[in-house]
Amino acid sequence: MFKLLFLFFITVTSLFSYAEVKELQWPKGESFITFLAKYGISERFYYDLEKEDKELCSEINAGTWHYLYENEDGSLNQVLIPVSQEIQLHIYQDTNKEYKFQTLPINYNEFSETIAIPIQNSVAFDLQKATGDPMLAAQLKAIFSHGDVNFRKMQKGDFVSINYRLRTLMGRPFGMPVIDGAMVEINGKKHFRFRNLDDDKYYDEKGNGFTKSYFFKIPLTYSRISSHFTKKRYHPVLKRYRAHLGTDFAAPRGRKIYAAADGKVIFVGRKGGYGKTIIIKHTNGYRTLYAHQNRFNSRIKNGMRVRKGDHIGYVGSTGLSSGPHLHLGLYKNGVAINPLKVIKRGNTKSLKGAKKTAFIKSLKPLKDAIILEAKKESPNLPTKLDRLSYKSDLAL
Ligand SMILES: [Zn+2]
Repeated sequence: MFKLLFLFFITVTSLFSYAEVKELQWPKGESFITFLAKYGISERFYYDLEKEDKELCSEINAGTWHYLYENEDGSLNQVLIPVSQEIQLHIYQDTNKEYKFQTLPINYNEFSETIAIPIQNSVAFDLQKATGDPMLAAQLKAIFSHGDVNFRKMQKGDFVSINYRLRTLMGRPFGMPVIDGAMVEINGKKHFRFRNLDDDKYYDEKGNGFTKSYFFKIPLTYSRISSHFTKKRYHPVLKRYRAHLGTDFAAPRGRKIYAAADGKVIFVGRKGGYGKTIIIKHTNGYRTLYAHQNRFNSRIKNGMRVRKGDHIGYVGSTGLSSGPHLHLGLYKNGVAINPLKVIKRGNTKSLKGAKKTAFIKSLKPLKDAIILEAKKESPNLPTKLDRLSYKSDLAL
């Protein structure tokens, strides 16, 4: 508890001086505007925000933990709402009791550890039991999904050894764990995967690639890129942090928009500052978001499957007052990533030449640590953070 309070103090001490801070999950179906309405804050507040900030307000996900502080009369004093791994929205009353908006960097913590887990039951069950986090097993399965490892064949006596990193916020997992290296031993045979920092893909210890090729097509013919992806940028003139969680393609109103890859439509409708928006879910944890559409292709319905290149809608400027463009968002396991980086990424082949030599050399210490951990008589005790049922009392 002390550690939690300490984290809390360094995170928000300058923002909340006293009183009770509520720690809440963002309700399903709540939009930024309905949230403001609950506290009697005028819609004007939202409409006066800059374009970039309006988009960020549409990035709030149901279930997001946020921190809220009310005045004695129940009005909103201030609230902090994370919208990405880097940025949170801060709405607060200034000394004149007027509401102000700013974006602040998130002071998350990150730890890294190597753990070895003997299989008693199943990989998913045993990893969650040891770490409290169901996401670690999901990530492990994802990086071994192509190749000859069959988790269902694992038995008592087999084990997994993993080096991973996890960000935490207020003592709770924040985002997905990132596996840097893993070994799965089945019936005495060791299988490895290591993340290559150079291209963010996974290879075995000999540099063989497994990730299935993934091609995203740029979803329209555009005039120019009017705004690039930025996770967190300090604007020296405005003296504030900005973020843009997608790529803006300027194009004439009515220009056709196509699905960037095969997938299933999971959202068709208005999404706050994103205006008329379609979200498509793809395999491997990817989602694409197409915002500010003038209108949708009337054939497109929620829940339907689409193929890469299917016509889904038309360029517009709904949700914002600026000119027509497509805001394309790309998410991997719920985390916004740069669409252009993935679109430009080609097939995953095995590494060759100098890249292979450098990769094999770089993974040596990690490989040694992973093997050593699995051999230890008393292995590291995994950090245990409960992702699902964690509760705390942060009343001060
Ligand atoms: Zn945008």
